[in-house]
Amino acid sequence: VVLDCGTRPKGYDPLPALDYLDNPHLLLISHSHQDHLGAVPVFHSRYPGARMISTHGTREIAHVMLRDGLKIQQLNEDSPELFDEADLEQTLFQLETQPVGKDFEALPGLMVRFINAGHILGAACIYLRYKDMSLLYTGDFHTTNSRTTNGLNLAELPEADILITESTYGSSVHPARRNQETALMESIAEVVQAGGNVLIPSFALGRAQEILLAIRTSKLFNKLTVPIFVDGLVRAVTEVFRENLDLLPIPVQNLVKINGQEPFFDKTSTPPIISIEHPRERPIAIAKPSVIVASSGMLTGGPSVYYASALLEQENAAIFISGYTDEESPGRLLQSLKTGDTVELDRKSITVKAQIKRFNLSAHTDKVGLGQVINKVKPKHLVLIHGELESLHQVARSGDNQSLCYIHIPAVGDKIELGVAPEQLSRKQIAKIQQPQEFDVMVESFGTDAWLRVPEEVVEKDPRWQTLSISGIIKARWDGVNLKLAPMQPEMILQEEEIEAGLKSGKDCCAVCQFFSGRFCQSPDSPLFERRVDPLAICDQFQSQVQDLSTLDTDLLWSEEVDY
Ligand SMILES: [Zn+2]
Ligand SMILES: [Zn+2]
Repeated sequence: VVLDCGTRPKGYDPLPALDYLDNPHLLLISHSHQDHLGAVPVFHSRYPGARMISTHGTREIAHVMLRDGLKIQQLNEDSPELFDEADLEQTLFQLETQPVGKDFEALPGLMVRFINAGHILGAACIYLRYKDMSLLYTGDFHTTNSRTTNGLNLAELPEADILITESTYGSSVHPARRNQETALMESIAEVVQAGGNVLIPSFALGRAQEILLAIRTSKLFNKLTVPIFVDGLVRAVTEVFRENLDLLPIPVQNLVKINGQEPFFDKTSTPPIISIEHPRERPIAIAKPSVIVASSGMLTGGPSVYYASALLEQENAAIFISGYTDEESPGRLLQSLKTGDTVELDRKSITVKAQIKRFNLSAHTDKVGLGQVINKVKPKHLVLIHGELESLHQVARSGDNQSLCYIHIPAVGDKIELGVAPEQLSRKQIAKIQQPQEFDVMVESFGTDAWLRVPEEVVEKDPRWQTLSISGIIKARWDGVNLKLAPMQPEMILQEEEIEAGLKSGKDCCAVCQFFSGRFCQSPDSPLFERRVDPLAICDQFQSQVQDLSTLDTDLLWSEEVDY
């Protein structure tokens, strides 16, 4: 079973590691952003027998997004040919849909449910059950309502053995969305009222429609007749949104059904929202005060580059960045520029005079939402993906998650086994980490146990502390000078439990035999000599010697010892 099949946004080495797949039977698609969908035609041409399933909304948008992917691939000489028109047609023809919130049997015995993810129209978390195992893959998600989609409802999330989650903003807290939106609307109104143009470079899917709806319903724009122009892929995607009105939140539906208004394009509305149909119309869009919503969002291509290069040199113009920008993208570069700086854009050298600001209208959850999802799903294994490595590690380090489950930050090709802890830091990695400074710990007693509270900064700077919570159980040993702490591996816990069961059974079994050591039989006379044995096994070479449990297998128990 494959979950999503996207392309890398930057274009080089665009395909996922399909070679790791061994005859997949099923592809489930969470949503229609290119990083989740872009390589689906490649997948389908390699594995034409595999079923492909998404929500209805995702398939509707997939038509536009995949076609755009093909167009960019054909226009750009540097980009390799990933798929052709025939692959695309076949893919769209074969892509099945299933409703949100209903279980379906995708393969014999494999139950699947799409759960609204609150990220963009059609986006779903994917919940899988097979026999007594369960897995939840979040895809991209947001717990807050936006104008084009209701947020992920925590009550709809089931518990699952494995949680694979995006962690894009897992280490930061978003400012309140409504405030950001209001600030953006006020800034736009200010510029156009002073006679200037505003460019909002925007992702075509999701963000652009959010901004159009915000302008459409903002009181600030009720009386403004300044036109809003929409250009690039935004146009085509917005049309799909309009065609799927029933998938949009009730307030948008009511705009049409009760108020009789068009939510997106309407030349006669106040303000008018006008689609730019041809590149030759572009100069018209900036001839008078206006707002332009155009893709791409990071100014890496598309009409937003044309508008930016024209407006950057105008003193009364503004460029408002509305979302994520890649570190190497022109969109990010612009944010660091001051008036008077020069920048190379659209093959021109430009002196910046326009106002440049950034607003956070993210469609991804933050640290708070991610924590809520983890608490609700209560996974045994937490797999962190879809975020910068630094952010993934920060999520892994954050206190609450650690003791509850195994945390994985897998690299391509890594295997995760149910019930098995992730590999710990190697000794080499540990050696690289600076010795910690001396610090104070708080000791709190708790029944017969004691808590040692280590300052958060210490834990953050030294990942060795993470190794102590791999299984959630720590062994402590006082040697008279040092208190030694070591993590318990799950195998050790299991082994101890088995040995204890052997001791308790009262039988003359291996667990209480003097030749039993480190799970192996050490009796030269036994047929099981030097073999691994079950602590509850019985043999005729048994020699009684009840041992104190604490003296058993100390080598093995302490092999991962970490000395603080
Ligand atoms: Zn996405
Ligand atoms: Zn994504």
